Amino acid sequence: MRRGTNLLAVGGFNQAVVLDLIRRAPDGLSRVELARASGLSPQTIGNVVRRLLDDEVVLETGKQVNGRGKPRTILRLDPRGGYAIGVHLDPALISFVLTDLDGAVVARRIHRTPVAVSPTQVLDAIERAIESLLAEAAESLAVPRERVLGVGIAAPGPIDRERGVVDDPPLLRGWSEVPLRDDLARRLGMPVVLEKDVTAAAAAELWGQTGHDGDDFAFFYYGSGVGLGIVLDHAVVRGASANPGDIGHTIVRDSTEGGVPCECGRTGCLGEQTSPLRLVRRAAGAGAGAGAGGGGGVGAGVGAGAGAGVGAGAPSADVDDPRALFDAFGALADRAEAGEPVAVALIEALGADIATALVRFADLLDVDRIVCGGPFWEPVERLLLDRVERAVRTSPALVTPHPVRIVSSAAGADVTAVGAACQVLDALYSPRPANLLLAAQA
Ligand SMILES: [Zn+2]
Repeated sequence: MRRGTNLLAVGGFNQAVVLDLIRRAPDGLSRVELARASGLSPQTIGNVVRRLLDDEVVLETGKQVNGRGKPRTILRLDPRGGYAIGVHLDPALISFVLTDLDGAVVARRIHRTPVAVSPTQVLDAIERAIESLLAEAAESLAVPRERVLGVGIAAPGPIDRERGVVDDPPLLRGWSEVPLRDDLARRLGMPVVLEKDVTAAAAAELWGQTGHDGDDFAFFYYGSGVGLGIVLDHAVVRGASANPGDIGHTIVRDSTEGGVPCECGRTGCLGEQTSPLRLVRRAAGAGAGAGAGGGGGVGAGVGAGAGAGVGAGAPSADVDDPRALFDAFGALADRAEAGEPVAVALIEALGADIATALVRFADLLDVDRIVCGGPFWEPVERLLLDRVERAVRTSPALVTPHPVRIVSSAAGADVTAVGAACQVLDALYSPRPANLLLAAQA
């Protein structure tokens, strides 16, 4: 039997077509049905199916009796036929998932991103975590390493997807021209795919969606920065360089409304308005200073300095460490939930700014659903989901002739890592030239 990792390389176009048809048929398909649906000859179907059976990727499950004809054997996907690892590299946390062939998470772990170390040391940590995940999967789930098809890694942009290189993302200091994909592939001895984080998140949502959901949606990603994953006509949009969805400089507030200066020289950009670092510093500055300055008004106290250097000596000083920032942001959400005026005002303004941006994206893309997720969405979800939904629904700027649903990601905190794993599975299922090229490289 061939090693699982070879599946990507040897399958080819026909196998991808057949496998995708089987995966999408919850009740399974017979060979006759496969030939009809694929347009391939019965002989080709027979050969492909035999290979998939040999590789234990599909199962024969029972017979279907159709009138007077010979009973047909039903083929189904065997979820245990292959696995994929997904990694989400965020400046604060690194999430790892192991999914089966159907994209279901069978094991997970989360590590804090090492700070103030070189990319090589971060790669060391990723390699160790994956090796330990593989060892655990072999031990407790009986998943042999050779059944793991590859690793998908989602990283903040900008990325060079073709070369597998991460280049200078915000908050990952010293990550200039890091050949993440090839380094990791060499260390692990398996194929690695690199994807931008927002695109991976959108891919996970698309992979896991049920028949009731539409084919067009956007994924609002709230991480250390903001981004938009876009799915149109049931396909993830990658654009010219696989770096779509940079929405950080979308202006959502002018200076009279309390917009803060952005590094681009303008005022009220979404990325700066929603920056967790800025919000945490503002909260700390206001808390340490006046304490009661908020009064519940949106954007109260704006102008006290959005830039670095605020709060030297204040409790915010250590939020330069992305992990401390993550914790401080969670604490800010807790303070808002407890009704502390400064925190409430900051979170309300955050919701208003997100809603303003989402209205614009809904109008632009004609999507009827915007999924919200990402590491910094989770702490504020309970405070913001309804508020953002209401603000979008009642906005006079929303011109789409249909309602726009605002929902939280079904995949929860794992969404981006799952999406990264789906990139590996996608290469197996999708008969697209780009994926075959990837398979050939692997
Ligand atoms: Zn800007």
